[in-house]
Amino acid sequence: MIRRTLAQIAAMIGGTAVPDADPDQLIAGVSKDTRAIQPGSLYVPLVGEHFDGHDFVQDAIDKGAAASLWQEGHGQAPAGLPIILVDDSLAALQRLAKAYRSELNTKIIGVTGSNGKTTTKDMLAAVLSTTYRVHKTMGNLNNHIGLPLTLLQLEEDTEVAVLEMGMSGRKEIELLSDIAQPDAAIITNIGEAHLLQLGSREEIARAKTEILHGLKPGGLFVYLGDEPLIEQAVQEMGLSTPPEKVRFGTSEDNDIYPVSIQAEVEGTRFAVNACPGVDFYIPLLGKHNVINALAVIGLAQRLGVTAERMAQGLESLQLTSMRIELIKADSGLTILNDAYNASPTSMRAALQLLHELQGYGRKYAVLGDMLELGPREAEFHRSMGALLDPGEVETVFVFGPLSKHIAEEASKKFHPEKVKAFDDKNELVTALARIVRPEDVVLVKGSRGMKLEQVVTGLQGGS
Ligand code: ATP
Ligand code: MG
Repeated sequence: MIRRTLAQIAAMIGGTAVPDADPDQLIAGVSKDTRAIQPGSLYVPLVGEHFDGHDFVQDAIDKGAAASLWQEGHGQAPAGLPIILVDDSLAALQRLAKAYRSELNTKIIGVTGSNGKTTTKDMLAAVLSTTYRVHKTMGNLNNHIGLPLTLLQLEEDTEVAVLEMGMSGRKEIELLSDIAQPDAAIITNIGEAHLLQLGSREEIARAKTEILHGLKPGGLFVYLGDEPLIEQAVQEMGLSTPPEKVRFGTSEDNDIYPVSIQAEVEGTRFAVNACPGVDFYIPLLGKHNVINALAVIGLAQRLGVTAERMAQGLESLQLTSMRIELIKADSGLTILNDAYNASPTSMRAALQLLHELQGYGRKYAVLGDMLELGPREAEFHRSMGALLDPGEVETVFVFGPLSKHIAEEASKKFHPEKVKAFDDKNELVTALARIVRPEDVVLVKGSRGMKLEQVVTGLQGGS
């Protein structure tokens, strides 16, 4: 983590230390929450919609913070405390992270994309850890606050940092890339998440491609070659020094593509053109996760990691949050829990996974609404219904008003009794629990706001 004197930190952020602050005071690390103050750290009082960190400055110091920022114009800073006055505490946090990053020799890798950022970040960290000292974004801290805090956690001897970069609109990835100044950037894919805010997939591609703004000259750009909108957005940017490109994806036009994929019960085995003779295994289901792994392989290869070590790193992968989680209920029933996130791209991936799954009894889908999709939301839901294959899926259960469109479309192919719409989760669970057998598998997927984890809990308890 950052270790600097108070005077050095004031200089890095262009702030003014108050006369009561000791310029030689050593500061280690940064905290933004008084419930988790690291002793000796710098407290950053952020101002949110429902809170004002300035109310807790005294508390932060009492709990061991070595110093605090104070945003000018926020009333009088309390007297007698080690305070650095700044114009804006959030901007100061971001400037500090950027300045600290520029003093480090760490290679920074930024990961963005509509889906698969956290998975790719975790895979990449696992693979690079076989060869380097690596730090990665904890959990999903991928925004304008989490990213600077992650940079400030880096140690001087961290060799590679893998940072997740998230967004919900234009200029957000640009800001993150400008702070992080990555040596390499990954775009996992362009989906439909945030279509409501951005209006079109072209615009989503432009927003993701902003990751190139802060990329070091001659840096590496690893992206899904199957998605022409990324190339197009890069061309529009008219960069004076184009990055070195590595394209990955399903198509054989890419630099990195799979030559075989084999679904197993709890994971996926695959081989890659760029690593002949090496057998890769990920403890994850779904072809989309193989695609994520291709990005990791493309990047790790450029950083000199051997294919054998890549395979070892991927196999031992520990995920921060395994989004499609495989749960065995006491009854024996298998539940594919993907209840925390849904967009058409990820739902399509999950349905494809369910269709391809081997070795189970009957397959069921429980699908909830995908939120925040904008004016075309009904159409997106209908297209999911059209994807459902009655040859693979026994019965479709839907929950929520938008999911009625999934049901409507599915009813065109399924027997009317095999598509069931519910407005009450308990009723849904009861109906499903009545028909599933221990050897069956149930996919549960919907947007976070639909709280479909209640269905997962219900099935675990009652089936
Ligand atoms: P968030 O925006 O919430 O941070 P994320 O981009 O970090 O999401 P993950 O947490 O890795 O993404 O995965 C989220 C969902 O996306 C999961 O449901 C997963 O099944 C799906 N997914 C992961 N990778 C891909 C991919 N390459 N293509 C399509 N869907 C994917
Ligand atoms: Mg994430």
